[in-house]
Amino acid sequence: MRKTEQLSCACGKFHIELEGAPFITTECHCNSCREAANRLADLPLGLPIAGTNGGTPFVLYRKDRVRFPDGTALLRAHRLSDKAPTRRVVTTCCHSPVFLEFQGGHWLSLYASLWPETSRPPTQIRTMTSDLQDPSVLDHAIPSGKWTTAGFYAKLLAVWIAMGFKAPQVEIEEARS
Ligand SMILES: [Zn+2]
Ligand SMILES: [Zn+2]
Repeated sequence: MRKTEQLSCACGKFHIELEGAPFITTECHCNSCREAANRLADLPLGLPIAGTNGGTPFVLYRKDRVRFPDGTALLRAHRLSDKAPTRRVVTTCCHSPVFLEFQGGHWLSLYASLWPETSRPPTQIRTMTSDLQDPSVLDHAIPSGKWTTAGFYAKLLAVWIAMGFKAPQVEIEEARS
C-alpha cells in the first residue's frame, strides 16, 4: 500500500489527498507561469505561487493518485486567455493556488506552496529557463537548461505509458473574467 498524504488550502476548507510520492518536482520559468503568477496575485492569493527567483515550484502527481475528498466545488479554473489550453486552479474560499493542468494531460502540477515548508518535497529541476531574459537570477543548485527540459518531457511520457495512456478528467468550473 502506498501511503497517502492530505494537504489543505490556507483556510482549511478544501483538502487534497495524494497517494504515494510525486514523480518529479520542478520549478517552471516559462512566460505563462510568470504571467499567471502576476495576474493571480491580484486575487489576492492565500498562498504564494512564485518563489523568490520568480520561478513557480510544482510537485507533479499522476492524476490517478490525486483525490479531492471535499469534491471540486470550491475550485475555479483560470486561463490566461479564453482559448488557452492550460488552466490554473485556485480555491474560492481563500484563493489558494492548487494546481496547473494542461488540457488532456495525465498529470497535475500541484503548487508546492500547498505543502508546509517542513514537509515540502525538495525541487529537483528547473524547466523552461530559456524563457528567461536574464538567467543570471538563478543559482546553480539544481539542473536546468534545454536537456533538463527535454528529460522532463521524457519523464512525462514514461508516466503516461505507466498509466496505460489514460488521462482522467477533473471537472472544475471556469472562473468568470
Ligand atoms: Zn481555503
Ligand atoms: Zn510554466
